[in-house]
Amino acid sequence: MDTKAFKRSLQHSENYNRKGFGHQAEVATQLQSEYQSNLIQEIRDRNYTLQRGDVTIRLAQAFGFCWGVERAVAMAYETRQHFPTEHIWITNEIIHNPSVNQRMQEMKVDFIPIEGKNKDFSVVGTGDVVILPAFGASVQEMQILHDKGCKIVDTTCPWVSKVWNTVEKHKKIDYTSIIHGKYKHEETVATSSFAGKYLIVLNLQEAQYVADYIINGGNREEFLTKFAKACSAGFDPDRDLERVGIANQTTMLKDETEQIGKLFERTMLQKYGPIELNQHFQSFNTICDATQERQDAMLELVEHNLDLMVVIGGFNSSNTTQLQQIAFERGIPSYHIDTVERIQSGDSIEHRQLNGQLAITKNWLPDGEIVVGITSGASTPDKVVEDVIEKIFAVKATAAMV
Ligand code: SF4
Repeated sequence: MDTKAFKRSLQHSENYNRKGFGHQAEVATQLQSEYQSNLIQEIRDRNYTLQRGDVTIRLAQAFGFCWGVERAVAMAYETRQHFPTEHIWITNEIIHNPSVNQRMQEMKVDFIPIEGKNKDFSVVGTGDVVILPAFGASVQEMQILHDKGCKIVDTTCPWVSKVWNTVEKHKKIDYTSIIHGKYKHEETVATSSFAGKYLIVLNLQEAQYVADYIINGGNREEFLTKFAKACSAGFDPDRDLERVGIANQTTMLKDETEQIGKLFERTMLQKYGPIELNQHFQSFNTICDATQERQDAMLELVEHNLDLMVVIGGFNSSNTTQLQQIAFERGIPSYHIDTVERIQSGDSIEHRQLNGQLAITKNWLPDGEIVVGITSGASTPDKVVEDVIEKIFAVKATAAMV
């Protein structure tokens, strides 16, 4: 498919909207009352610190809703206002946050059902309204919806669209896109649908494996098995790694994306020499500012003397997991939770570990005076962060009375 031509024709269609419907002022009040928090504003005003009883809270200086997420949620609310009676669908969670997705369902915005491993678009009728979430949708999904005559409201974050433009550029000059991301993540699925030849690497270790293959060759079968789910159809490592460009899932660790970019630049330099480098390597900066700011704020926060960290965000939120990883690497006891209900009682918390498994930790709040670092992923409303902080204060106050 000529994805660029399809996107162009979609954007000119009267059934397509990516700018909202002019109800910003009305939904702004609603969003403020549902998602914002006076307590969080107070902590911001107090230089990101608040002490109550035995607990000192230290908030990261950048956390929570990024502008891309805020924009997507606001557009979804506007869509409901603009189409009060139409059936509204969304191709995926609008963002990775359970409370926001629950609100969508209360507003009668339905998720496209999944049959087996695939979405069942047969439920969507002509004239229905379909929202594409902040991390986008694959070009194939867009085409199905366009062909059905649906009204498409595209909330894809412009940073994600920038990555799509980058892989389009690679495709045009016949480069393979090396995408730093998780092959199953919806954003990476969408990005790879716009790419020509692509290979998805999860981390620096996988990137190093590919770089070694470029320099020394290797076991082709092993390569294809390793990346079986993470490359374009018909990918041939002996043919398709001669010219590469870098792209990324916008929520990966930015340092790692940069290191992967530099690794492939060095690799191509070694293989082809400085004069030929530009014919074999392309890199554009597609790291999202919001992800970068949240990671930088976390790096600053973990420099303080913290007894523990609480990282708040959806369990399938990639950028939240990255924040958790930073705490883990510093050896700080860190608990990734998605809602306040995970704090089950005075001494017990249910949390997601880096390996994806849930665990219950008892006696997670030490006795006496403690300093708790708090941050949240880009999909987490301030209200959820407030609930967690209030719960920690309450648990410690109760413990102090016993
Ligand atoms: S994290 Fe960045 S790319 Fe993702 S929605 Fe927010 S602003 Fe956009």
